[in-house]
Amino acid sequence: MGLIVQKFGGSSVKDRDRIFNVARIVMNTRNAGHDVVVVVSAQGDTTDDLITKAAEITSDPSHREMDMLLAAGEEISISLLTMALQELGVSAISLTGWQAGFNTDRAYSKARIKRLDTERVESELARNRVVVVAGFQGLNRSDDITTLGRGGSDTSAVALAAALHADRCQIFTDVEGVYTADPRKIPKATKLKEITFDEMLELASLGAQVLNNRSVELAKKYNVELEVISSINPVPGTIVKEETKVEGMLIKGVAKDTDVAVLTVKDVPDVPGMSFKIFSLLAQKNINVDIILQTTGRDGKKDMSFTVPLGDAENAVSALKNATSRIGGGDITVDKTCAKVSIVGAGMQSHSGVASTMFEALFNQNINIKMISTSEIKISVIIDEADADKAVAAIHDAFIN
Ligand code: ASP
Ligand code: MG
Repeated sequence: MGLIVQKFGGSSVKDRDRIFNVARIVMNTRNAGHDVVVVVSAQGDTTDDLITKAAEITSDPSHREMDMLLAAGEEISISLLTMALQELGVSAISLTGWQAGFNTDRAYSKARIKRLDTERVESELARNRVVVVAGFQGLNRSDDITTLGRGGSDTSAVALAAALHADRCQIFTDVEGVYTADPRKIPKATKLKEITFDEMLELASLGAQVLNNRSVELAKKYNVELEVISSINPVPGTIVKEETKVEGMLIKGVAKDTDVAVLTVKDVPDVPGMSFKIFSLLAQKNINVDIILQTTGRDGKKDMSFTVPLGDAENAVSALKNATSRIGGGDITVDKTCAKVSIVGAGMQSHSGVASTMFEALFNQNINIKMISTSEIKISVIIDEADADKAVAAIHDAFIN
């Protein structure tokens, strides 16, 4: 007997059959004696379709209206799933994000949860109902609808699990767990039994696309153990937690992220404060900068290159161009045909030669490295996007097989 939060992604509820499949999973959990809070995403490609619809109207939709629009996707799922549960004789009720108490900041399309008031959810649980909550959405202080960013339903689920002190948080998806690489691209990829929050955080942000980044941050912060499992095949998935058993695996995964652009600001004055000026400007625009590289000063000038998400590249360029008079610096160039390929593993902290094995694998494929960045548990390289799949396969071979 306990409280279980179960999150189902868009593919898990994409049509009638999948909805009933989910309803049966929830019913079985309920019949095993647990209280269940369900979080669902919009069905299938609904969110993408809504974005397309907006694009048919305007190339520059207001962020507020986009959130109003996108939140509709999850509302369809919660009501349909609740109907399916009721059809199976399970007492259930659907709640929108705001009915479930999600209060967020004002940042439309990438809002952060400020407070989660769980009274309503708890009172529905007390009435023996399964509570089906719309993921991805909340309400800001002006009572306007906000969304938590793409993939935000994972975050909604983890936040609910933390606030309700749930005994388990299960993230159901269309894959069987977290793999050493994308199994659709790398047939030799294997499923991990366990992975740490830190490793998962690196993999999520590196584009492994199983769990949303912020959800893992939140899970780490509140120590919510996550179980990533398939809604289609009832086999053990991957557990994400603070520490995993010591095992032989040096590298837990190889990830590819093509959602990167490299920006270069040429001829920045080689004086104190330049990095501060450039990156605070981008921070003000809510643009995340990842890898930063600066050349050694020469003739009082230096070049600065850094990566940003592809979708933010144009914004970043125009922000910087508008500020060149204040910042100095010459040409700003942007390269949108790159990819970031990374290896992740807590084991590399205590082993040498990891980087050289990775670089050797790239060299053997004649792949040129444009930028390198390392942390205690990760090594990333920026390469040509066209080389990315080949790079992942070669690196995976070098470490995992
Ligand atoms: N429906 C939203 C999206 O597609 C949120 C989610 O799926 O988690 O990004
Ligand atoms: Mg997802």
